[in-house]
Amino acid sequence: MAFVSMKELLTEAKEQHYAIGQFNINGLQWTKAILQAAEEERSPVIAAASDRLIDYLGGFKTVAAMVGALVEELSITVPVVLHLDHGSSAERCKQAIDAGFSSVMIDGSHFPIAENIAMTKEVVSYARLYGVSVEAEVGTVGGMEDGLIGGVKYADLHECIRLVKETDIDALAAALGSVHGKYQGEPKLGFKEMEEISEATDVPLVLHGASGIPADQIERAIRLGHAKININTECMVAWTEKTRTMFKENLDLYEPRAYMTPGIGAVKETVKNKMREFGSAGKAAGAREMKV
Ligand SMILES: [Zn+2]
Repeated sequence: MAFVSMKELLTEAKEQHYAIGQFNINGLQWTKAILQAAEEERSPVIAAASDRLIDYLGGFKTVAAMVGALVEELSITVPVVLHLDHGSSAERCKQAIDAGFSSVMIDGSHFPIAENIAMTKEVVSYARLYGVSVEAEVGTVGGMEDGLIGGVKYADLHECIRLVKETDIDALAAALGSVHGKYQGEPKLGFKEMEEISEATDVPLVLHGASGIPADQIERAIRLGHAKININTECMVAWTEKTRTMFKENLDLYEPRAYMTPGIGAVKETVKNKMREFGSAGKAAGAREMKV
């Protein structure tokens, strides 16, 4: 299966000051929209399945087979990363890797740092055998996403340094005020802390809960070392608003394809706009592919 690790992609993105979008999968048609958006924009793409949605989506193997088959059937030529988002345990990350995922996030952020480091180490040593990239998290992203609830807790600089040094991860999600789901009021990111963490760790940073963060703040986050930006809520809202309108205006609709397609089109447009905003559009040609 032609999925690639995100390690090289993120290194290149960070060097050239753009970011690659992670877009979460919410079903087959959704995946198709993400892949086609990437192909049309000539952008590398990270298609992600949230650990809490794996069963809903049919299991690790189903997700890997579905995304892999779509890459082939749609003749996708841009680099595609299949990533596990918020992996809840080392065991779940290993299951994803065994199924063919090319990247995993181990989220030990709600454990004490020593435990977080131990979990992350275990995943990194397994992932290295297969050329799979690993993301880990420090601090707490606020809000709720896929059943994860938490108040904002800023990532501690020294914990970030320890985690990166002791585990050799490929990307770090340092929570600095972003929120999963919809924002109440203007997002406030800790740019000063961001700069310190980026300089001290020298690893590509990941921005979770980026839906609803204004373009100027996104641009600043990219300048300060963010090479991966996660978008889920904005795609879900785009789909839901379009689908709701379809039902409101066409009470007789009963064919899923008829009422699903416009919403999926809205997801595709959202993804394309994000790729342009993040600067990853047109960057696929320069990206080196690494088969796993
Ligand atoms: Zn997240």
